[in-house]
Amino acid sequence: MKYNRIFNFSAGPGQLPETVLEQARDEMMNYHKTGMSVMEMSHRSKDFLAIFEAAKEGLRKAMCVPDTHEILFLQGGATAQFAMAPLNLLNSQNPHADYAVTGNFADIAAKEAKKYGVVSTSYNGGPDYTHIPVQSELTLDPTADYFYYCANNTIFGTEWHYVPETGSVPLVCDMSSDILTQTVDVSRYGLIFAGAQKNLAPAGLTLAIIRRDLAGHAMPITPKIMDYQIMIDKDSMLNTPPCWCIYMLGLMLRWVEEQGGVQALQKRREQKAAMLYEAIDSSRLFTAPADAFSRSCMNVAFRTESTELDAKFLAGAEERGMKNLKGHRLTGHMRASVYNAMPIEGVQALCDYIRDFDKEN
Ligand code: PMP
Repeated sequence: MKYNRIFNFSAGPGQLPETVLEQARDEMMNYHKTGMSVMEMSHRSKDFLAIFEAAKEGLRKAMCVPDTHEILFLQGGATAQFAMAPLNLLNSQNPHADYAVTGNFADIAAKEAKKYGVVSTSYNGGPDYTHIPVQSELTLDPTADYFYYCANNTIFGTEWHYVPETGSVPLVCDMSSDILTQTVDVSRYGLIFAGAQKNLAPAGLTLAIIRRDLAGHAMPITPKIMDYQIMIDKDSMLNTPPCWCIYMLGLMLRWVEEQGGVQALQKRREQKAAMLYEAIDSSRLFTAPADAFSRSCMNVAFRTESTELDAKFLAGAEERGMKNLKGHRLTGHMRASVYNAMPIEGVQALCDYIRDFDKEN
């Protein structure tokens, strides 16, 4: 393979498209005749502001973000949003939010929110987290300040395949591991956030998309840097933003457009997931722990019945140039993360290997 690269099934930071990396390389030493790299530019300079605006507009277009919503480029990862969301969206007088706990990241987010208000749990799928609730399984609180869920559970390999209906309660969603992989009706959400390092850009950038009327009511203890309204007023530049990552996001968004946009990527993600689950389901040795209805298209979790066979499978995968298939330590299973930049050929290679391994063992 070109540059001796491998198929990288890492859950994050994830693989980036080769053409994006090549463009970044080509522009590294002297960006558009500025005589410097983007990493060395003032965030207030004309050149960087053009990069910033293009990335923001590119994202607005790719995700069809309506005018009612602001796009923010933040830092601190999705983890900072676990605190930022409650600090900004809870009602200071009677703070109360509703969380669907379908994985460890939603669990961490709910625990963080408990520092600032009362948290009710409309669903708890622990400790196995193999199931995503259908609407009727959610015990919703119609008086909550917001309802929180995590669209794709990176570690457990489950994903919501519908948007929960919550009436007038604003929806808050962690889309860290499936943003930009399928079309989303942003108008249905109060807040969407995502760490960038799987489908958007390198680690260091956090995206937030917030309905404008929900900002401006932060709790008085909220740090300035965590106040959505202040960040809106400052156009994400209260302090130095993650300039390089924003530039990389711009390159990624152009790549998304070249691929045919999010709709085309959605078809591809469905194709990739179908290929993998078909290989797993038709094998004798492998099973996928997630419920059929809850299976993630992004993080395909699977295992054999023996840890020795799993270890043998992983070692053989490395020999074939497929790396980072070992799952999270919390689960013990294997996991193929197939974000936007994972080509069909990588998935095909893994499916072929699953079939060969199944025959030979
Ligand atoms: N939410 C999800 C769904 C994730 O996958 C991750 C990281 N893998 C996080 C939150 C935490 O993100 P960060 O490391 O950007 O804080």
